[in-house]
Amino acid sequence: MPELPEVETAKNGIAPYLTGFTIEKIIVRQTKLRWQVSPELSQLSLVKITALSRRAKYLIIHTEQGFIIGHLGMSGSVRIVENNDPVEKHDHLDMIMNNGKIMRYNDPRRFGAWLWTDNLDNFHLFMKLGPEPLSDQFSADYLFKKSRKKHTALKVFLMDNAVVVGVGNIYANEVLFQCGLHPQKLAGTITKKQAELLVATIKKELQRAIQQGGTTLKDFLQPDGKPGYFAQELQIYGKAGKNCPTCGAKIESLLIGQRNSFFCTKCQKK
Ligand SMILES: [Zn+2]
Repeated sequence: MPELPEVETAKNGIAPYLTGFTIEKIIVRQTKLRWQVSPELSQLSLVKITALSRRAKYLIIHTEQGFIIGHLGMSGSVRIVENNDPVEKHDHLDMIMNNGKIMRYNDPRRFGAWLWTDNLDNFHLFMKLGPEPLSDQFSADYLFKKSRKKHTALKVFLMDNAVVVGVGNIYANEVLFQCGLHPQKLAGTITKKQAELLVATIKKELQRAIQQGGTTLKDFLQPDGKPGYFAQELQIYGKAGKNCPTCGAKIESLLIGQRNSFFCTKCQKK
């Protein structure tokens, strides 16, 4: 599943072919994605793109008339192709540009989204989102205060988009392992020091993935490019029954908040 670093990389990969250019039209081949594709998109014609940005895992294409909001869902990808490249299965949306390029969206499982809004400030999907993990707003002070009196499992707390966006399941597992904190530790019991460590580790892991993404950036530009999801170096995720890389004890797994969780009870404390 594309996580925040993949979306950031996708945005950086497609931006040079879109920003400052004009959308000639958008072809929607499949309107039934996670939500109905906004009908406004098929009606756009000769609209200039002024910028690209990202909020949580949403791509935002800024135009002179409003904003196109994209989400890659479980299996979606965007790439830049030439305008004579044949359409493949699951290519659900083409944004045809005046520079001879097409931004093409492919999504086998169709959990992604393409929506339109006139106003980002009151866009419904953004209303309840917590801060961006790489912003200054996401600080140890913030996380510590936010966690007070929270009786939820720390892992569930960190994955809550209202607390902070972009900490997916794999990152949550890896970060907690690196911090020596048990995923079931109650969020309200973390110390200020632990909040500092968590915030620093989350930022470091996401930044590392984004930097690493730069090296796979070409995948977004090639017509036969694979989605370009990152092969992460995982220490704990998916390793149930294997030996902990730190102490050698057996790695355990458990469903926490309905998500697969992996941990070492020797290294990670409640
Ligand atoms: Zn261990």
